[in-house]
Amino acid sequence: MTLAVQPDLVPPPMPLPLPVDLAGQRRGDLLRELQLLDGSPDPEMDDLVTLATVICGKPMGAVTLLDETTLTTRARVGISGATTVPVEDSMCQFTVRGTELIVVEDLQHQAGLHHAQQWLDAGIRFYAGMPLVSEGGLAIGALCVMDLQPSTLTPEQQTMMAILSRQVSRLLQTRRHAIAMERMAREREREKRVIDLILDHVPVSIYLKDRAGRLRYYNRALADRFRIDRSTWLGKTNYDIWPREIADALKVTEDKVFETGQPNIGFASVPEPDGSTSHFKTFETRCISVDDQPMLAGSAIDLTEQIRREEELRRVRDELQDANGKLSSLALTDSLTGLWNRRAFNARLETDMIASHRNKRSLSLLLLDVDYFKSINDRFGHPYGDLVLRELAAILNTCKRAEDVAARFGGEEFAILLPETGIPAARHLAERILKAMRTHAWDKTPVTVSIGVAMCQPNCVSDTLIDEADSALYRAKRGGRDRVVLHSDPDD
Ligand code: GH3
Ligand code: MG
Ligand code: MG
Repeated sequence: MTLAVQPDLVPPPMPLPLPVDLAGQRRGDLLRELQLLDGSPDPEMDDLVTLATVICGKPMGAVTLLDETTLTTRARVGISGATTVPVEDSMCQFTVRGTELIVVEDLQHQAGLHHAQQWLDAGIRFYAGMPLVSEGGLAIGALCVMDLQPSTLTPEQQTMMAILSRQVSRLLQTRRHAIAMERMAREREREKRVIDLILDHVPVSIYLKDRAGRLRYYNRALADRFRIDRSTWLGKTNYDIWPREIADALKVTEDKVFETGQPNIGFASVPEPDGSTSHFKTFETRCISVDDQPMLAGSAIDLTEQIRREEELRRVRDELQDANGKLSSLALTDSLTGLWNRRAFNARLETDMIASHRNKRSLSLLLLDVDYFKSINDRFGHPYGDLVLRELAAILNTCKRAEDVAARFGGEEFAILLPETGIPAARHLAERILKAMRTHAWDKTPVTVSIGVAMCQPNCVSDTLIDEADSALYRAKRGGRDRVVLHSDPDD
């Protein structure tokens, strides 16, 4: 660096890189940003000023900072009084206009210098000032030494002033970095508080584990879920917390995440103190801790209640299906005999008649009525009558073909619908039924039935078929019971 010594400083001899007020504005902005105008004590700066005065052999020295309007003394030696003066009353206003050392050996020879008289009045004769330059190349103040006598600086002292001013500038920069660090630290602290707030209020358990499987962090949701406090599980592994086989299974997954770096979505079931089991959906991924260690970040959503509700729903649905099945079979069958009931029989009769007409296939109907059933009831009681009806139903089931439909038509009357069956086969079945009734081992007394048979004619409707079978049945009763009469038989 070249040092310019100007014993006869003439105001202001050097070209201005910026209009004064604009430079002042920039100085002010920077000083405020560095928070250097607050007048707080600065012992390191004081030391550098002391060093400057000792090296230069001058009784007074200062570090001054200049904003748009005011000079603020940041550190000083041998000077008392106000720490601030208007910029235009200062000698340093000339120093900050350049980048090099200004030396005024005797102010008395600078009578033309603006405000020089007031310095002379204060007894100052000698001034040397070295600008303090910021990182951006802006002179923001000066390191200066003063004397009450006219004086000078040796080349070595000038060099030392340059070195010391760089030290002061560096100290000011350090200040800037410290402020930036402080701001970053504050921001990090704020962010951390926000993250902690979020972590502690999400309804999901969140945890961090180190490579050895030790819990390094868990959030409030996890602590609340397992009714522990925020430190109980810190440093613990799965083996300290869960039964061995569960810990083994959890470890396999965690090791895989650590080794492959692939995130894992899985399920974990763990026992509760009351003997029940809780179920969690887990998401685990590898991450790096602040001290560069591999960590496992995990979250777990409690599915226990959801699974319990789903199981409950499934159970209710099964029960409903079961009940519906029972209801629909109840609606179709006769509870005493297990045969089709009249309603189901009627529906089946309609469809079979349509099919028979369309396919031109025969369809026959048997109507049966128990003979003298009233007297069976009267003699042996109603429950015995019921038993007879059930045994009769069993006989009908054994006599008929699988495709024939046997129904309880009402009271002690029964019907059998015979698809693809003409009169001869229908009569044959009726005869077999009579025979089975006669040969059955009845407990109390023989039971017989009368049977009327009719066959569906082209274009006949269900009521007609029933009427025809019924009138044949009536004729069987009238003819003496325990017999078969065909609708087509001649009336006697
Ligand atoms: P017939 O030979 O002329 O058919 O004479 P019957 O006595 O069988 O006929 P009736 O119509 O006089 O009597 C039928 C009886 O069947 C009357 C009724 O109490 C009885 N009955 C109807 N349904 C049931 C039932 O579910 N259980 C029992 N035990 N009896 C029934
Ligand atoms: Mg009857
Ligand atoms: Mg009867």
